[in-house]
Amino acid sequence: MSGYDFDLFVIGGGSGGVRAARLAAQRGARVALAEARGRAGLGGTCVTLGCIPKKLYHYAAHYAEAAEEARGYGWHGPAAQLDWGELKRRRAAEIARLNGVYEQLLRQAGVTLLQGHARLLDPHTVQLTPLQTAGQPAPLTWRAERILIATGGTPHVPHFVGREHVITSNDVFDLEPLPARMVVVGGGYIACEFASIFLGLGVRVTQLYRGEQILRGFDDDVRGFLAEELQKKGLDLRLHTGVVAVQRRADGLHVTLENGQTVVADAVLYATGRVPNVAGLGLEALGVAQGAQGALIVDDHFRTNIPSIHAVGDVVARAQLTPVALAEAMALVDHLFGPAPGAAPRQARYDLIPTAVFTLPSVGAVGLTETQARQRCGRLRIYRSSFRPLRHTLSGRDERALVKLVVDDASDRVVGLHMVGPEAGEIVQGFAVALRCGATKAQFDATLGIHPTLAEEFVTLREPVLVT
Ligand code: FAD
Ligand code: NDP
Repeated sequence: MSGYDFDLFVIGGGSGGVRAARLAAQRGARVALAEARGRAGLGGTCVTLGCIPKKLYHYAAHYAEAAEEARGYGWHGPAAQLDWGELKRRRAAEIARLNGVYEQLLRQAGVTLLQGHARLLDPHTVQLTPLQTAGQPAPLTWRAERILIATGGTPHVPHFVGREHVITSNDVFDLEPLPARMVVVGGGYIACEFASIFLGLGVRVTQLYRGEQILRGFDDDVRGFLAEELQKKGLDLRLHTGVVAVQRRADGLHVTLENGQTVVADAVLYATGRVPNVAGLGLEALGVAQGAQGALIVDDHFRTNIPSIHAVGDVVARAQLTPVALAEAMALVDHLFGPAPGAAPRQARYDLIPTAVFTLPSVGAVGLTETQARQRCGRLRIYRSSFRPLRHTLSGRDERALVKLVVDDASDRVVGLHMVGPEAGEIVQGFAVALRCGATKAQFDATLGIHPTLAEEFVTLREPVLVT
């Protein structure tokens, strides 16, 4: 028996922490998990303030569109009105249910659950300041052979006059009342998703982005195409636009722009990136190596420069996505406690990460953008098609879809697959397997389509639009 209370002490009950704790306990390790927000935080950002509530609101916005489109299919009647309070209540109840599911999974696996903020006292000692409501004597210290930091990230808002008047994605789900006018600052995932969601819910949305086009890092065709589609739906998208100040006045929040103009809104959402959540962990005193914005620096086995301290997920900031945090947690557990019986140890891979942006229409992508492929491959063949999806022939909506393949000419391998359209995430998930298997354009061509679908376009792209 070691002199430690636990074999593994996990700090943070989010995607990465929960997965690591549960798997390690299933492998026979003595595991504790501390979550600063207690039971209400189990599942982490993804479950409480991220992927899940966001997707539920995305569906809510979709129904508004669907109800409008149904008229083209002969459905008539009084237009349904959104009860924003009911949507919030139902979302909160679902999230509480999920917190409970996570709690049960951890308990069933034998993980000791602790509620409170954890900090490191030395490479093997964690001090926990319990939640006031948790009824535990404060503070507690625990000794563990290994410590996993899985504390995720937190929204970053730059400094400007009136910063105190703006909200972040943490506040957006419970806005009261539903604003009539909203300004969204940023051009990344969160800004685009919420601009689109609130637009769908009937809010007048102005999105301000400092750069040339939204969704930097995505394929240029996708970026321009999505911007046009969102603008067609009424998004007031302003590019090359920065904010100088935000002032509260009687008629709303006055957002002063760098170009001297003012936009007045009832809510200003800043979605200008997320930074690793490292405050109060005691890392500096221990000399734990940190990179940009405090991100923990880890080796291939998610070990920091202190051998007993590991880190996974957004706090490592390699790719801030739930499936990446899960993959890192699984690779770590396999490395520390051995893989599941009969299985090979898993490794986290960062190439070919499929991703979706849940706008309306949505974006899906896997592999290289055309620009990235130009830097890494030789001659390319580009296949692209944009069209009006069948459903919109009768709906009357002027919405188009885009599909695009980037093919390495020499090997014929499809190195990038991109789309804008309904259910892009659902479609691209399947194609991501094909790209992981190294599928060639000839194999795409040899695959029969499912007719009539939007996804069949990917296997019926015959002539390249560009060969260079
Ligand atoms: P987290 O899930 O953030 O968990 C960290 C946990 O640690 C938190 O619960 C926190 O309370 C706790 N904690 C922090 N410090 C301490 C401490 N000192 N002591 C104890 N506990 C502590 N990803 C996707 O893949 N798809 C999406 O659609 C998607 N949508 C998103 C939408 C939004 C609005 C946001 C903000 C994020 C979204 N993400 C999405 C990203 C995804 O949520 C994160 O990548 C993922 O949650 C990271 O998991 P993690 O375990 O690293 O951290
Ligand atoms: P992103 O990094 O995606 O986007 C941040 C945006 O804010 C960029 O447009 C950036 O501009 C801009 N920005 C950064 N700093 C400033 C500043 N000082 N002033 C003005 N604009 C600024 O971050 P998000 O906050 O949108 O999301 C965080 C992460 O969460 C994402 O990267 C993603 O990994 C994850 N996420 C995933 C989702 C999904 O899978 N569907 C959904 C939501 C979040 P520039 O491009 O010029 O740098």
